[in-house]
Amino acid sequence: MALAPNVYDAEPIPDAARAEIERLLSSGDLFRYTNEGSPVQLLEAEFAALMGSRYALAVSSCSAALFLSLKALDLPRGARVLIPAFTFAAVPSAIVHADCVPVLCEVGDNYRVDMADFAAKIDDDIACVLISHMRGHTSDMDAIMAACDARGIPVVEDAAHSLGTVWGGRKIGTVGKIGCFSFQSYKLVNSGEGGILITDDPELAARATIMSGAYEHNWKKHAGLQNSFHHWQNKLPLYNMRLQNLSAAIIRPQLPLVADRVAKGRANHDYVADRLNSSAWLDVPPPLAPEERAPDSIQFNLAGFETDAEARAFQDAAKARGVAVQVFGLSQDNARAFWNWQFLGEAPDLPQTRAMLMRACDVRLPVRLTRDDLDFIAEALLAAAEDVKGEARAYGT
Ligand SMILES: *Cc1c(COP(=O)(O)O)cnc(C)c1O
Repeated sequence: MALAPNVYDAEPIPDAARAEIERLLSSGDLFRYTNEGSPVQLLEAEFAALMGSRYALAVSSCSAALFLSLKALDLPRGARVLIPAFTFAAVPSAIVHADCVPVLCEVGDNYRVDMADFAAKIDDDIACVLISHMRGHTSDMDAIMAACDARGIPVVEDAAHSLGTVWGGRKIGTVGKIGCFSFQSYKLVNSGEGGILITDDPELAARATIMSGAYEHNWKKHAGLQNSFHHWQNKLPLYNMRLQNLSAAIIRPQLPLVADRVAKGRANHDYVADRLNSSAWLDVPPPLAPEERAPDSIQFNLAGFETDAEARAFQDAAKARGVAVQVFGLSQDNARAFWNWQFLGEAPDLPQTRAMLMRACDVRLPVRLTRDDLDFIAEALLAAAEDVKGEARAYGT
C-alpha cells in the first residue's frame, strides 16, 4: 500500500546558498548596511526586477511589511482599514500595531471578498483597504481598485501567500499601491522568516525605508531612490524591522526557482481539484476569470454536510486514511477564524464568512509531490467523504 505523503517537510535550500552563507560566517558581515552591495541590497534589486516594480524593501516579516505600509501611508491614529474577514491573525494585528482599526468585510464561500458587503462597508471613514489574498485566492481586484480609486483610498495588497499569482496579466502585489510578501517557511520562498514590500511610489518607498531602520544616512545604500529622503530624515521613527544578510543569502537562490514552483504548484492543485470536484460532497471553487493561481495548498468546501459533527467525521475519516485536513473554523483557537481575534474586542457579526469557515477544508500540496502522492491524497479525501455521506449521490437527483 502506498504511504501517506509527507506534506509538512520543507524543500531543501539550493546549494548556492551554502557558499554565500560560509562567506558571510567567515567575514561576520551579517548586517545589511555594513557594506555596499550586501546580499539584502542585491535581493531588493532582484525582487524588484522579478516583479517589475520600482522599489523593493526587504524586512523581517510580511507582518512588518504590512505595518510599515500603513505607517508609510501616514494614516492617522484610529484610521479605519478595511480587510477581508478571512485572513491570518497577523493581518489585523499589523493594523492594531500601526494604531489603526481593522474593519472586517464578509468573504464568500469562494474565499474571496464579498463585493456586496465591500460596497456597503467602503464609506468615507475607510482610510485604507488592505486586501489579503488568503491562501493565494485573489478577490476581484478590478472592482476593488475601481471602488477605491473613485474614493482616493489607497490599497495595500497582502500577497504573503501569492508570489507568482497573476491577475489580468499583472503580477499580484503590483495592483495596489504597495504589495507585501512573506518568506516564512510555509510560503513559496522559504528563509524561515522574512518579508518584502514593493511599490512604484518613491515617497512611500522613502518613508518605509527610513522607518524600517535605515538610520542616519543608510538610505544612501538604497539604489535608484529619486525621492525626498532629506525631507524625512529624523522626522520618522526607526522601527528597526530590517532583514539580515543570512536570510537574503537563503532567499536569493530561490528566486530563479519561483516560476517553476508556480507551474508545478498550479498543475498539482488543478489535478487534485478536478478529482475532488468529481464528488458531489466536495467543492473546489474555481478562480475568478482574470486569475492565474500559484497554489501550494488546496481549499475545498464540504457540500451537504449539515452538521459540524459530520464535518468532524470527515476530518477523522481523512486522517484515518493518512491525510490531515484542517477545517478552518472547527479547530480550537484557529488563527484564521475571526472570532478568535479577541484582541479586537467583540467579534463582529459575519454570518457568511463564519459559515464558510465551518465547512472550508485546507490541505497542503507542496510542489514536490508526485502524481502518486496526489492520487493518494485525492483518493483519501474522496473516500473520506463517502465514509461519512455514503456512496456519492448522482448529479441532478
Ligand atoms: C503568512 C501570512 C502572513 C504573515 O506573514 P509573516 O511573514 O509570517 O509575517 C500574512 N498574511 C497571509 C495571507 C499569510 O499567508
